[in-house]
Amino acid sequence: MSHLFYQTSQRRPLLDQARGVYMWDVDGKRYLDGSSGAMVCNIGHSNPNVLDAMRRQMEKSTFGYRLHFETEASEQLAARTAALCPEGMNKVFFVSGGSEAVESAIKLARQHALAIGQAGRWRVISRSPSYHGCTLGALAVTGYTPLTDPFAPMMREMPKIPAPRAYLDGLDPTDPATGAHYAAMLETEILAQGPGSVLAFIVEPIGGASTGALVPPVGYMQAVQEICRRYGVLLILDEVMTGAGRTGRFLGLEHWNLSPDIVVLSKGFAAGYVPLGAIAARDDLVGAVLEGGGFLHGFTYAGNPLACAAGGAVIDEIARLDLVQNAAVMGAALRHRLDALMTRHPIIGDVRGQGLLLAFELMADPVTKAPLPSALNAHQRLVDIAYEMGLIVYSRRTRDGVEGDHIMVCPPLIVTEAHLDEIADTLDAALT
Ligand code: PMP
Repeated sequence: MSHLFYQTSQRRPLLDQARGVYMWDVDGKRYLDGSSGAMVCNIGHSNPNVLDAMRRQMEKSTFGYRLHFETEASEQLAARTAALCPEGMNKVFFVSGGSEAVESAIKLARQHALAIGQAGRWRVISRSPSYHGCTLGALAVTGYTPLTDPFAPMMREMPKIPAPRAYLDGLDPTDPATGAHYAAMLETEILAQGPGSVLAFIVEPIGGASTGALVPPVGYMQAVQEICRRYGVLLILDEVMTGAGRTGRFLGLEHWNLSPDIVVLSKGFAAGYVPLGAIAARDDLVGAVLEGGGFLHGFTYAGNPLACAAGGAVIDEIARLDLVQNAAVMGAALRHRLDALMTRHPIIGDVRGQGLLLAFELMADPVTKAPLPSALNAHQRLVDIAYEMGLIVYSRRTRDGVEGDHIMVCPPLIVTEAHLDEIADTLDAALT
């Protein structure tokens, strides 16, 4: 009998070891980690240089409370994070995960509004579907009703606009009119809410698990940034899943040269070695908050030296192994293999993504894009069959959380062509 509990009563085997892209359970069965956990382990498992950096830090100190000490590890990681963000975003605040980072971004935005005399601004617009975390604040901006509905009475409901799923709406994502069409929904929502009440818009530059690696239509991201600027609405980019090289750029925002107000990081930022997240924000924004009395926010474990040392070593390894470039090259090669699977298996109705943030969607009819019946639970069945065959992939219900099945195929950024063949061959067998 296990005393642990997680989301469901389903039990998984005990993990014994993990190295590179492979994991072994205690019975010696090997799994290829085709989803990097939950799009986390970007540099692979048990990287010796990260383990060394952690060991070195542990021998020096493992904890220093942030009100008593800064550490070299946290100062260095903050400086390196700022250097990887757009110009003018030089202020970094550490936390222990993605939900905490989203909470921090929202609270920083609110305190900024107060500091500059705009107390009326509190609404944070987001998209549906979307996932920004499981704490109540992050959940309030999550567009995924099966997760949010039970807690609705306990949260201040935040406005949602539709995610730009051109493939379902029969629109051409390469046509700038499509990007403009979806971006206009943000402006309409800001006007409907009253511009003076809108604090921020939070969005993933490339949709993660909620939309199944949804790349926005041409012009969309630039247009939403422009609309935010026009109405004095802060742009918060949730790069929890897209950051740290996953999409073939260090940050997803680089695909469009965006300059947001706050960037949210976690997952690949520490690549699964430690719990770590961060927000990076514009200097003037943080300056106003600090001058206005300080940031009323903070977690006990925030910026602890062990987490920061691991985070710094992860950034070193991403650079040393050229993993951003490898994500772009291997991403294109994996995309090619997934496209080939789509031609062989008509149950695949769409393949999408960027770099190694890739997904395919199972559908009843690839032409009409009709979803499979929810009762089939097709996405979970495919994940379970692949798991039996020794391949880990990650699935989610898409279409507003109630129908539609997509499978994320997002291996560590260290993958080689041989790993991609193994992934594609196993998926082929599982789909068959
Ligand atoms: N934002 C995004 C885009 C995410 O994908 C996730 C996690 N899936 C989160 C926030 C929350 O991160 P965490 O689970 O570390 O709290």
